[in-house]
Amino acid sequence: MKQILKSTPPKEFILWYNNRIPPPTIWDHLNSSDKKTLDRGDFDYSKNKLRSYLFKEQKAICAYCNQRIENDYTSKIEHFLPKKIYIKETFNYYNLILSCDGNSKRKSDKKYHCDNLKGDTEIKINPTKREYLNELVYDEFGNIFSNNQTCESDIITLGLNCPTLVNRRKQIFEGIVFDLDGNYYKSYYYRFVLIKSIVKPIEFKDQTQYVLLNLMNDFDRTICIGLLKVVNILHRFSQIISIFRNAKYYKYKMK
Ligand SMILES: [Zn+2]
Repeated sequence: MKQILKSTPPKEFILWYNNRIPPPTIWDHLNSSDKKTLDRGDFDYSKNKLRSYLFKEQKAICAYCNQRIENDYTSKIEHFLPKKIYIKETFNYYNLILSCDGNSKRKSDKKYHCDNLKGDTEIKINPTKREYLNELVYDEFGNIFSNNQTCESDIITLGLNCPTLVNRRKQIFEGIVFDLDGNYYKSYYYRFVLIKSIVKPIEFKDQTQYVLLNLMNDFDRTICIGLLKVVNILHRFSQIISIFRNAKYYKYKMK
């Protein structure tokens, strides 16, 4: 699971929240789509707009399983802390992430996953926080493990090892990890593939990089970890700049 770096809440979302009369209390107070016409001084916002914002923030991947998602009805705005239990967190931007549809549209496979399976269950692995993420282990056959009991339990709650997801990851890893005869490549090849993956939009990118690092010798692994750290620092730096630019919108408070 990749860490989702939350940016600042969308300006229009803050304006809608702070100016709505009466103040919003339940999720459905936020319309699904935009109003056609606006009265003067009316601040409108919608779930569609919020989804688009989260979609960009997450770079088009599901926050839990990291498979590619679409910016349409098949992806869902998920409350990490369930809104039924944590009512005050309903409109807290930092509690909102985008999840895939959990395979709910494919009737042939009933193994739901992600938000669809999690429902109102509370979990500890928060994709927006680094804690626990480093305890997830991936193998080249598409499986996810952890030695941490909490993580293992959350993997089950999210269905991250359901056949659909395991097979999808396995397909991607197999094409990279094994040659045509089913043998492992040499370490330098994995280093080459990992460096290429940094700029290439591939599905399950973090998991793929994890698997590749595991198959490298110490020398190649050290080079690649260093490179990934630099990329991460640059990414965070660009985000800090955008947070400073939006600093004036930090007035957002739950009423
Ligand atoms: Zn998912």
